[in-house]
Amino acid sequence: MPAIEPGRDSGGPLVTISEQPQPAPKKTRPDPIDPGFHYHRLRKAVHATCVIIFFLLPLSNLMRVDIPRQRFYFFGYELWISEFAIIFYSMMFLMFVVAAMAIMWGRVYCGYLCPQMIFSEASIGLENWLRRTVNKYMNAGAKTRAVLSKVLFYLLSGAASVLLSFVFISYFVEPRDLLHRLMALDIKTAGGMAGATTTLLTLIDFLFVRLRFCTTVCPYGYLQGMLTDGHTLLVHYRDDGHECIECKKCLRVCHMGIDIRRSPYQIECVGCGECIEACNNILSRLGQPGLIHYVWGEKGERLGDGDKTWFQKIGLRDAKRVVLLLVLLFYGVGLFTALSMRNAVLVQVSPVRATLYRQGADGTVYNSFHLKAANRSSTQQTVVLGIEGLPGARFEGFENAVVVNAAQTQDFDFEIAASVAAGLAPGVNHFRLTSRVGNTTDSFDETFIMPFKDSK
Ligand code: SF4
Ligand code: SF4
Repeated sequence: MPAIEPGRDSGGPLVTISEQPQPAPKKTRPDPIDPGFHYHRLRKAVHATCVIIFFLLPLSNLMRVDIPRQRFYFFGYELWISEFAIIFYSMMFLMFVVAAMAIMWGRVYCGYLCPQMIFSEASIGLENWLRRTVNKYMNAGAKTRAVLSKVLFYLLSGAASVLLSFVFISYFVEPRDLLHRLMALDIKTAGGMAGATTTLLTLIDFLFVRLRFCTTVCPYGYLQGMLTDGHTLLVHYRDDGHECIECKKCLRVCHMGIDIRRSPYQIECVGCGECIEACNNILSRLGQPGLIHYVWGEKGERLGDGDKTWFQKIGLRDAKRVVLLLVLLFYGVGLFTALSMRNAVLVQVSPVRATLYRQGADGTVYNSFHLKAANRSSTQQTVVLGIEGLPGARFEGFENAVVVNAAQTQDFDFEIAASVAAGLAPGVNHFRLTSRVGNTTDSFDETFIMPFKDSK
């Protein structure tokens, strides 16, 4: 084709368009985009917090079920096993918390809070770190390095098993008592044998079981699977807009060893979000958003997309979840009320009516009562009794103050005496017995029986 010479008629400069092929436009590298939220960092921070809480709860008596003493320590309260209301509300509250978490957020508990998951990941991380460190710093054959890193791993796992078993058993036995048994290497008593068995099981778990537990025997994992529905939060691969580049990073970071692209309903998936972050990191470098997301049900919106209200944001997406939250609130309020109404010392007074009354030689009339004072606090307490509405009556044979040591119960009969001169009516006289412990007062409606006029 001849060259075109535009502009000739107008007298302008001659411009020639060559027949040479033009170079292909240069491909520009896409601008990277923000990879988004760091789920790995969040998980590790949550794991560290959980470990601290796991150690703190029993060792500071914040939450512990002391089986030998039959006590339930709950955030400063020393509850007796007989305090049914509080224990009932605590158990129901915790049960509904677990159910609500599973229904709304799927297996987020497994991925972020479960001790089995936390310690299994820590064990895998420790083993890998030891292998790398020995390979880096030791100048020896491959076999020697492998053996050394294994020996070190077994030794450290053994020490960690003893420590973690100690903390775990502290949830059920007084920690000082437990330490004493541990120092004496007690494996003959029931407590010692329980400690040794727990340590051995923990070690086996660290060395061989680890995350296999989650996918084979964990009942909570299966329970969560049953509780999920079409609005439950899950991790989902959606190939919308652009394609997977098959880098397989999502597979490599998955500690459960699955390919999330196959299905969001794989029993192994604990919803940790590590694959989301991995895919975001890879594709953001190509200027594309990641392909794996947290979504509200398989067909639902992505986490954070289109949620306008706070209750949608936290997963309250239908009436069922609102009802669940109300039930949770009910048990929470019940627990709070039961705790706020609780007295450190339980005082109970009841009449002993094996005989209606006893009359002394001087005509004084005696009625018997039974006192039970249970001190549920950790300090000595004094119960002071008083009589109201029974003129001339007095306690007979005991001071009106009863000292009760910490965690002990005083249980005994006493008498109230009234002389005939006091002028009480024959038959039933209503009065009130009062009790005072520190600033806490209580009263009990009682009756005092006087002889009837025709009694002999
Ligand atoms: S598939 Fe993703 S969310 Fe599920 S366990 Fe593996 S890394 Fe975690
Ligand atoms: S990380 Fe993302 S891009 Fe890579 S294989 Fe997985 S889904 Fe595909």
